[in-house]
Amino acid sequence: MAEREPVDRRRFLHGVGALAGIGAAGLLLPGTASGAAAPRIYSCAEWGARAPQDQLVTLNHKANRILVHHIASANSTDYSLEHALQVARNDQADHMDNNGWSDTGQHFTISRGGYHLEGRHGSLSTLRSGTKMIKAAHCPGQNENAIGIENEGTYTSVEPPAAQWKSLVALCAYICAQYGIPVAEIKGHRDFYNTECPGEKLYAKLPQLRREVAAALG
Ligand SMILES: [Zn+2]
Repeated sequence: MAEREPVDRRRFLHGVGALAGIGAAGLLLPGTASGAAAPRIYSCAEWGARAPQDQLVTLNHKANRILVHHIASANSTDYSLEHALQVARNDQADHMDNNGWSDTGQHFTISRGGYHLEGRHGSLSTLRSGTKMIKAAHCPGQNENAIGIENEGTYTSVEPPAAQWKSLVALCAYICAQYGIPVAEIKGHRDFYNTECPGEKLYAKLPQLRREVAAALG
C-alpha cells in the first residue's frame, strides 16, 4: 500500500488518453541474465492507462532494491486477465484522484491471477534498459532507488494465491537480473516505513521469496 506524499501542485493539463490496445511494448523478451527470462508484462498502453497528470522523472541510474507491497484490496477470486487490467486502472485512478499523485505510485502490479502489469508510465522501458528507473511514489525515502511491486489483495491473514506468488518470483528475478540487485535487497514496505504492508503473511514469506528468486537466477 502506498502512502500519501506531498502533492506536487504543478498540474499539467491532462494529455490525450494513452492509446489502448496491444502494442509491441508488451512482447516477451529473452532474459538478459542467467535464467531470468523477461515475464510478460502488460504495458500502460495495453491496460488503457490515463496519461500522467504531472511530468514524470526518469532517473539515470539503476534501482538497488525491490519493495514488496500489497494493495490492501479485496481478495478477489476473479483471476482473469480482464480483471487484472481493471485492477491496474482502478489503482491508477485511486492514486491520481484520491491521493493526487502524478500517476500510479508503484512501478509494477501483480494480480491475484498472476498477471504482471506496468504501474507508473515508463517503468517497463526503463526496466528493460537496465540502466535507468522512473521516480515513483510507493514508499517515502525509497522512491528514487527501489522498485515498488504492488500485489492485488490483502495478506494480513492469508497468503497470496500460487499463481500470484509464482509471478512475484519471476518479476523479482527479472528485476534483480536487469539491475544487478542482490536478492538480499528484496524487502517489504514495512522495512522502510511505518506500515503493516505487505501484510503479515506475505511479509513472512520474504525469506522464501529471496530463496526462490536466487534459484531462478541460477
Ligand atoms: Zn506498501
